[in-house]
Amino acid sequence: MAKLLVINTGGTISMQKDATGSLSASAGDELPTLIEQLNVALDHHIDCVGLVTPSGTPMATSDSSSINEQHWIAIAHMINQAPSYDGYLVLHGTDTMAYTASALAFSCANLNKPIILTGAQVPLSSPGGDGVQNIRVSLEAFASGSTLPNIPMIAFGGVLLRGCRARKSSTHSALGFDSPNAPLIAELFPKLRWVSPTLPAVDGVANCDLTNSFSNRVMQLSLHPGLDAEMLKAMILNSSIEGLIVRVFGTGTAPDALDLGNLLSECREQTNGRFECAVIVTDVYNGSLELSRYAAGKTLQADDIIDGKDMTPEAATTKLMWALAQPRRDKLREIMRANLVGELTP
Ligand code: ASP
Repeated sequence: MAKLLVINTGGTISMQKDATGSLSASAGDELPTLIEQLNVALDHHIDCVGLVTPSGTPMATSDSSSINEQHWIAIAHMINQAPSYDGYLVLHGTDTMAYTASALAFSCANLNKPIILTGAQVPLSSPGGDGVQNIRVSLEAFASGSTLPNIPMIAFGGVLLRGCRARKSSTHSALGFDSPNAPLIAELFPKLRWVSPTLPAVDGVANCDLTNSFSNRVMQLSLHPGLDAEMLKAMILNSSIEGLIVRVFGTGTAPDALDLGNLLSECREQTNGRFECAVIVTDVYNGSLELSRYAAGKTLQADDIIDGKDMTPEAATTKLMWALAQPRRDKLREIMRANLVGELTP
């Protein structure tokens, strides 16, 4: 038995059809009763709440496409301000769940308690939907004792994944998430089987002045054949972008004509350092960068480009948003290269 705080942020799990027949966020009034029914045998003490800002203003539930850094700050604040709980269950839409899980990995790095995010591909109100099982196995995971890692995780489709390594892998399958570059923590269904519950050594966040804030001066860009260098440069120069996540090809290649390293250095100079750097990750679902493998990766080995190794785009983006909001801007590159919470394989 554990004392758990359930925070409902919205998503399909609690959606209802609106007048036009589209699924739309609802308050999720049915959730506390359902959760108590699923909790009968487990006997956790559970408090179910909605999201509130750090100043106490309620935030409406939403489709997770509308979740942004303010929601991450609110979730992390609610969790950090409620230390009497043994664990935290966050109900969330699947579309951006991997971003929120990664964001919490950084902003709750010192929490030392398990946080599980879950949701569903179809609403609870649809017969046979996946939401009931996802909540049930999450509650069971909290009953598993001290083997459950004290990190943000995603429980979905019967598996438990490291939050900062997880990615949405299907728009419709009940097995909606995967962690392509990291082992499962556990299988939760049909019964709990630990696979890799121990977190590999991490650099930790001791070197960062940990704050619960995120910059939204970050943009993510996927390279594609024919991407125009002048267009990219104009986008950086004529905006307030401070950091870029670039999803490059394969093991780390980019068109020679883009000359990305020099392009970004020019942007840094011409914006007097307002534009800081780019972090590159592979656009491929599974695998890592290996920049020296191809000559076509040479333009990426540059001062203003940080090798994101095998970070997911979700982890790299939230890490950069978090790092840019930290007070010590001079430590940004060091922070981005480090394996702070297990977000990359060193
Ligand atoms: N559009 C929904 C959301 O992310 C999808 C889901 O929850 O499965 O909120």
